[in-house]
Amino acid sequence: MSPTKLGLKLGCIADDFTGATDLANNLVRSGMRVVQTIGVPTAALAAQVDAVVVALKSRTLPAAEAIAQSLQALRWLQTQGATQIYFKYCSTFDSTPSGNIGPVTEALMDALNTDFTIATPAFPDNGRTVFKGYLFAGNVLLNESGMQNHPLTPMTDANLVRVLQAQTKRQVGLIDYKTVAQGEAAIRERVQALREGGVGVAIVDATSNDDLLRMGPAFKDLPLLTAGSGVAIGLPANFGLKPSLQASQLPPVTGWQAVVSGSCSVATNAQVAHFKAQGRPALAINPASLMSGQNDALVQQVLAWARPLLPSGPVLVYSTAEPDAVKQVQAQLGVAEAGALVEHALAAVARGLVDAGVKQLVVAGGETSGACVQALGIAQLQIGPQIDPGVPWCFAPSDSGAQADGVHIALKSGNFGTPDFFSKAFEVLA
Ligand code: ADP
Repeated sequence: MSPTKLGLKLGCIADDFTGATDLANNLVRSGMRVVQTIGVPTAALAAQVDAVVVALKSRTLPAAEAIAQSLQALRWLQTQGATQIYFKYCSTFDSTPSGNIGPVTEALMDALNTDFTIATPAFPDNGRTVFKGYLFAGNVLLNESGMQNHPLTPMTDANLVRVLQAQTKRQVGLIDYKTVAQGEAAIRERVQALREGGVGVAIVDATSNDDLLRMGPAFKDLPLLTAGSGVAIGLPANFGLKPSLQASQLPPVTGWQAVVSGSCSVATNAQVAHFKAQGRPALAINPASLMSGQNDALVQQVLAWARPLLPSGPVLVYSTAEPDAVKQVQAQLGVAEAGALVEHALAAVARGLVDAGVKQLVVAGGETSGACVQALGIAQLQIGPQIDPGVPWCFAPSDSGAQADGVHIALKSGNFGTPDFFSKAFEVLA
């Protein structure tokens, strides 16, 4: 497909998978038609869209690798005609002094030949606000939010100007809340002053959605934006787009319905219990029985159970368990081994269900989603209507015999969704 035919407006590079979906969801809700790709695509886009979000897994890679992948994504987006680039990172600014927010931003600036960009993880709807350059998570500073203990990217300083300055050779500055409150002209004036003062990257304050909406027009001409998912809500209007039902329209639904759940989070446990309490068919996979060799037999048993039930409505296959049970299994198998065994089995179940005619699939669990998407050979997801905040329905077009008509799929990360999520999801799609 040629860039003109595609009409691509915004090209996004996300440093992890669920973060990519979060960004895509915000863009769709603000009026853009969006496709999320798993990694840098090799094929042309399957649908005509306004924005593409390339999902990388680069957050904690060595900086050089994160840069290489991000530049590859940039080049692909440019060949698709993207007129503005958006580098998306976590709303808690997850990074270390060696990266990767600073190094990737710098590399993208160099590649785009631009001397100025912004950086803000603010998303007030999700409790992430930036005030005088300090990031708050809910009511507390970032470094008091629990993020100071993160195993991979401990955030021990809430001052984002300092945090980012440690990661980049470019000078870091601030566009504060007073300037943002005054709107487009004041923000543009501040950008000009910062630029003249040699600042290359400005942290931007935002304490409300209105702040994010004011940023949209002010940053319209910047070739590169770097942010969490919040800044996205102000951008579609720059391209003359308004929120519309059309943006989230997916192809018509077909086939049977199923839920595969490998998340053991509190919310998912409640969702499994709710589904069962409604008298819906549900089958638990016991990880202890997944010892080497028995995996395939167990998957076949699960599929034999599910097949005759599918015509009557959604079925649930789950390994979801309460913390005590999970700990017991982990003690027996080891944490990583237990996780991998279960993910592998659930992904094989998802694949088998789709082969059996399931075309509407809900997957619960971030890692579980990754495994299922991989097992289904999904490379591109068109983003549809939101089920609950952060979780949209997606459509994976057919690219294999087993997915002849494509598959509608919802990827729910652990603690998202109301207790009735597993039934509500199919109602939203219908
Ligand atoms: P969440 O989004 O809730 O964190 P994930 O899918 O990311 O869910 O992570 C859950 C992990 O726990 C996966 O690796 C999964 O395979 C593993 N797991 C699922 N069920 C069990 C269980 N009953 N015992 C041990 N580990 C499990």
